[in-house]
Amino acid sequence: MEFFNLRGVSVVGTGFVGLVTATCFVDKGYVAYAYDSNHEKAEMVRSGRPPFYEPNLESLLKKGLERSLFKCVNSLEEAVLKTDVTFICVGTPSKADGSIDLTYIETSAEEIGKALAKKSDYHVVVVKSTVVPGTTQNRVKPQLEKSSHKVTGKDFGLCMSPEFLKEGSAVNDTFNPDRVVIGEYDKKSGDFLEKVFLNFYGENSPPILRMNLASGEMVKYASNAFLATKISFINEIANICERVKGLDVAEIAKGMGLDQRIGPRFLQAGLGFGGSCFPKDVKALISFSQGLGYEPQIVKSVFDVNERQAIRAVELAKQLVGSLKDKRVALLGLAFKPDTSDIREAPSLKIIRNLLAEGAVVAAYDPAAMSEAEAILDYPVEYAVSSLDCIERADCCIVVTEWEEFKKLNPEDFLAHMQKPVVIDGRKIYDPEKFRGKLVYAAVGLGE
Ligand code: NAD
Repeated sequence: MEFFNLRGVSVVGTGFVGLVTATCFVDKGYVAYAYDSNHEKAEMVRSGRPPFYEPNLESLLKKGLERSLFKCVNSLEEAVLKTDVTFICVGTPSKADGSIDLTYIETSAEEIGKALAKKSDYHVVVVKSTVVPGTTQNRVKPQLEKSSHKVTGKDFGLCMSPEFLKEGSAVNDTFNPDRVVIGEYDKKSGDFLEKVFLNFYGENSPPILRMNLASGEMVKYASNAFLATKISFINEIANICERVKGLDVAEIAKGMGLDQRIGPRFLQAGLGFGGSCFPKDVKALISFSQGLGYEPQIVKSVFDVNERQAIRAVELAKQLVGSLKDKRVALLGLAFKPDTSDIREAPSLKIIRNLLAEGAVVAAYDPAAMSEAEAILDYPVEYAVSSLDCIERADCCIVVTEWEEFKKLNPEDFLAHMQKPVVIDGRKIYDPEKFRGKLVYAAVGLGE
């Protein structure tokens, strides 16, 4: 492999993508500079505490700080001037109409451009955030050129390289991705970034695909929309299974998933997808497509099925308990999936809203997301200190997130602690054979 003397990498945004990217580069011996406009978050990062829970991240961060290879700086200019490549990793949330909000992308591009104005060496700017096709060319490039007074391609390079990491296994995914996609403005920028990745991955490099900027942007949306489709599809099958005696969607999914054309992953029926990516990316793709004059029917249905799916838990609760007014409902799980503290767009939020609207008293517990929930949620929820504390005196328990900790509970735990042992297994983590004889048990996708 060609020797590549990279001075360092910088990231703008120390969220899941930025902080994981920077600390993984550092773990491989590179220098990484990180900048976040949220000073509170930056301060946490500087003191070695990631602002969110992600397995293995804290130890990587602490190691990077100890070795003085990782620096979280207060100046974006410093980060750009001291490195050769800058990854834009800021959020791209949804606007009220579902379309993508590019405010943070444009602000970062403007700030990076100002730093590039002071730099004489070649530098490559890489958009890692998820952005709709055309964004890097039509929004990032003009902003960079305006504030740097320089020309893309000639004075600095520009790429977009979508991020495919999953929260909960972000560090491992960054070290072992299935593929790396480089969308490039020109060959020189693409060559440069490919060398960065080849040096990072070494001998075991994943396939690196090179394409134009808009294609790189579209690969990310198409991938996320497809994964979301698998989830909504199996949830639809689950809803059919529930109505047929003897059917269990888990068995159906297993039978489907062994077909190599289908594959087993993203075929776990449940209460729907959430998190900071799938919902907003599906909405952005719908809005982007509509803007082009095309109604994306499949993607719209994926979204609609998902909107209804979380409420399925409340419907099951009403079927089994009757009126939920003044009933105590315990929610096991708030995070949108296990091994993360992220509650953004989590099914738990829809469930809480609906339970409260039914007049229920809601108690909740999550192994990682309690402080995040207490800080963000504006609902009258009783926050429990453990799963057993959560189900204490409850008339109904809904398993919302499939944390390992919840899988260890057995029917006797529910019988001993609940007022009336009614368990709704929203993620199908329990064996119906063990639960059914002992207490009232229902699961998503399980016929009677
Ligand atoms: P995040 O919200 O966790 O972090 C974004 C960070 O950017 C925040 O800390 C914010 O303070 C900072 N920021 C915003 N504007 C800034 C500015 N002008 N200068 C410096 N910092 C700024 O977001 P995330 O989850 O890391 O996602 C980032 C992007 O990556 C999004 O486009 C997302 O869709 C995409 N993505 C996320 C994941 C994921 O699992 N979280 C996976 C793949 C892709």
